[in-house]
Amino acid sequence: MTTSILHFNDEAEISQAYETARQTFRSGCTRSLKYRRHQLEQLWRLLSENEEGLLAALYKDLHKHKNEGVLGELIPSKEEVNDALKHLDDWARDEKVTPALVNRAGVTCLKRKEPKGTTLIISPWNYPLFLTIGPMVGAIAAGCTAVIKPSEVAPHTAQIMTELFARYLDTKAYIVINGGAHETTQLLERKWDHIFYTGNGMVAKIIMKAASKHLTSLTLELGGKSPAIIDEDANMAIAAKRVAFGKTFNCGQTCVAPDYVLLTSKAEGKFVAALKTAVQEMYGSDPQLSKDYSRIINNRHFHRLSKVLNENQSGEIVIGGQSDEKDLYIAPTVIANVDRDDKLMEDEIFGPLLPMIRVADVDDAIEYINSKDEPLALYVFSSNKKLVNKVLDSTRSGGALVNDTLMHVAEGALPFGGTGPSGMGAYHGKASFDAFTHERSTMIKDLNPVSEAVMGVRYAPYTSTNLNL
Ligand code: NAD
Repeated sequence: MTTSILHFNDEAEISQAYETARQTFRSGCTRSLKYRRHQLEQLWRLLSENEEGLLAALYKDLHKHKNEGVLGELIPSKEEVNDALKHLDDWARDEKVTPALVNRAGVTCLKRKEPKGTTLIISPWNYPLFLTIGPMVGAIAAGCTAVIKPSEVAPHTAQIMTELFARYLDTKAYIVINGGAHETTQLLERKWDHIFYTGNGMVAKIIMKAASKHLTSLTLELGGKSPAIIDEDANMAIAAKRVAFGKTFNCGQTCVAPDYVLLTSKAEGKFVAALKTAVQEMYGSDPQLSKDYSRIINNRHFHRLSKVLNENQSGEIVIGGQSDEKDLYIAPTVIANVDRDDKLMEDEIFGPLLPMIRVADVDDAIEYINSKDEPLALYVFSSNKKLVNKVLDSTRSGGALVNDTLMHVAEGALPFGGTGPSGMGAYHGKASFDAFTHERSTMIKDLNPVSEAVMGVRYAPYTSTNLNL
């Protein structure tokens, strides 16, 4: 199949890509640090020399403003490449460990950092560049080969990545396959050495089932309903601006976007007033006219979001509420005093709708969070350290950020990943290298007669004296 923009690969091309990536890995060429460094440098060049084309593709797919493309895709991609280039030697070096007493004589113990092998990377549409480059950096740095399946839902970005990867990278080691569920299913029928999937939890179950056939290891970067607790005593202007940023960046189509807000009725009025100011300052009185505001990716997601907004039974729209299907526009929309079991509280929203739930106090907020699946992110806005620690100590989530939204994802020194239904495994910085690396525990002994004598106690016949008990 082919869309007007993207050529979907057929079964023969999929087979060829798989075999080529396997053979290249078997040849051993991707293991050399010189090779890995060269591919990473090429990735850096690709990103630097094609900024305009990449940003234009992101704009076509998501109406993504240049600044959002630079901040949310190009800079983090380049930082991942940079980090890997800077630390590759350290990450890849054998790690010596001190042997236990029983093994002390004539022994070296090491963890060898070995590439997992031939890997499959499946990426989604919301940050189609960064969420493809990020895992690729891990695969290249670790010395793996990879077949890369970008999201067909962002076809312009998929297309330019296909062209550029072929132009800049080793085409026998890093091969793009384009397609949708059908093509991905064909890819999943094969035996991979690791699968790195970013996307929704439902498809993750399909991926896991396919991986289980070959006992393939997995990294699953998923989503969830990430809560934001607003303490009554927080600086409302700053908290509201940061929540508005997290909810409207990429039109709320961010895996770690604050999904909903928990606050007391006392805090609600002040927080809503501050949110109104924040949205107005960022996008003016009519965000549809703002050149800075992205759009919903496609009609399917537009209808999904409209349905969830129309079907919600409770609450009051206090900001926004407007939409325009022709333009795939949905205004930043805040719904106050939503019931806990409202439709809006069922699935991850993944759009610019922000339900707010009233809670009695922080314990009530914690109890509500703990009644739901572990989210990918958890946000708490407060200057009260005791309250913050209570929230962190009593909840679980992939990551947590105090007094801001989204920015923890940009921190390469912190592993990024979910827990439970929000994901499995992590990446970014060294964690990306680790995701594609097998730590091969290796013990090397000498054949020295002295070592042999020391270790002689293990051999039968045993006597009561040979262990000195
Ligand atoms: P998507 O529709 O682009 O799907 C992701 C990938 O899965 C695509 O490459 C697609 O072709 C493939 N796919 C779709 N259906 C399939 C099927 N039936 N079988 C096999 N493969 C299939 O993106 P999406 O899933 O809508 O992405 C949004 C979700 O991803 C949200 O839940 C979001 O929270 C999550 N997400 C997580 C992260 C993270 O880093 N944790 C980042 C971005 C998005």
